[in-house]
Amino acid sequence: MPTSDSPINPFETAKQQIDIVADLIGLDVGVREVLKHPKRELTVNFPVRMDDGSYRVYTGHRVQYNMARGPTKGGIRYHPQVTLDEVRALAAWMTWKCAVVNIPYGGAKGGVVCDPKKLSHGELERLTRRFASEIAPIIGPEMDIPAPDVYTDSQTMAWIMDTYSMLKGYSVPGVVTGKPISLGGSEGRGEATGRGCAYVIREAAKDVGTKVKGSAVAVQGFGNAGSVAANLLYDEQGAKIVAVSDSKGGIYKADGLNPHDVEAHKQKTGSVVNYPGTKALTNDELLQSKVDILIPAALENQITKKNADKIQAKIVAEAANGPTLPEADTILFQKGITVLPDVLANAGGVTVSYFEWAQDIQGYFWPLDEVNRRLESVMVRSYADVHKAALAHKVHNRTAAYALAIQRVVDAIKIRGIYP
Ligand code: NAD
Repeated sequence: MPTSDSPINPFETAKQQIDIVADLIGLDVGVREVLKHPKRELTVNFPVRMDDGSYRVYTGHRVQYNMARGPTKGGIRYHPQVTLDEVRALAAWMTWKCAVVNIPYGGAKGGVVCDPKKLSHGELERLTRRFASEIAPIIGPEMDIPAPDVYTDSQTMAWIMDTYSMLKGYSVPGVVTGKPISLGGSEGRGEATGRGCAYVIREAAKDVGTKVKGSAVAVQGFGNAGSVAANLLYDEQGAKIVAVSDSKGGIYKADGLNPHDVEAHKQKTGSVVNYPGTKALTNDELLQSKVDILIPAALENQITKKNADKIQAKIVAEAANGPTLPEADTILFQKGITVLPDVLANAGGVTVSYFEWAQDIQGYFWPLDEVNRRLESVMVRSYADVHKAALAHKVHNRTAAYALAIQRVVDAIKIRGIYP
């Protein structure tokens, strides 16, 4: 298991999580082996012409972890530290996330080892188009549907969609999600992760016996996911947002902030820090502040055995991926804190990606209120499923969500049978 003191191989973590759940739900050795192996992996080395006329060779991966429940789904990240094991782990986690919210997808992930901050717009476009054509044989609306991830965005998706469409000879919007609206993107996709997170917080508060209205909320990472969650908890549920942070620091105001004003300040100055009338706060102080609801929405490995005991929130909603280490999970569970795990709390994003794909393949687009209504229904149902599994197995929500998801994948594997 990864700890705050040891280097972490994410794929080892992913396999250990499978073993824990396999013991809990009683899976036999053969099925465990299937679950611990990615179904398909493609590594490509490809040249890109740089602005100065030289060529550079880049390495990229696409891993399709499990497709028993449907085509695979998952983002593509551009980062200098991308490794095959990291991509495998992320692809496994996408498999469980899609199964937790019960959308008809398996999981995948991709990555290119590069430093996008050092590439020009033209170099990024050529890298993206070449990577897209290298993986084109294994992606497609019926096979594997990429999406944005770390340092890729709607422009990256537009290039992949265009490259794939050029190879096919006709437009194929359903090959990627997270596209611009003008190319077949969905209304509501930009807000979906934060919105889904706000819905599961509302549902969990009922079971915890608390009210979101008037509750103090701290948000670590006032970016896309974090700021939308804060705005919606404030606007629609009457929460009091007392602390927020970004990479430059945090701010605190005991009687509450207007998150829209903080957002405007961040847009103007580049950060939430120095927002008038607030007290400066470090990252650790924010995590340990006296709040009812804590939303880690920035980075991995934030809640560790060193600070878990000091968390005071009743609910921790993981808008970010992997903010809590396994060693901290146990401590939070023993303290009676309700953790809404990432595979549930941030699954609003992949859910609206699924809606985008469904709209693309029908060629029929839904208004925003319909997207949000359907998202709410998926999140409410998924929270209830996870809560029920936690009570049934007497485990915390993360293990419960994994148990639910892995059972759904196993059911699909078993009913399909082993070919031939
Ligand atoms: P983002 O870049 O919009 O926001 C991240 C925020 O975190 C930024 O405000 C940044 O300044 C802040 N941050 C960075 N380092 C920090 C630090 N040390 N302390 C405090 N804040 C820090 O990214 P995002 O899309 O909101 O993603 C945030 C997290 O949510 C990631 O873990 C991502 O994987 C996860 N997530 C996002 C989506 C989505 O649809 N956007 C979907 C699923 C999961």
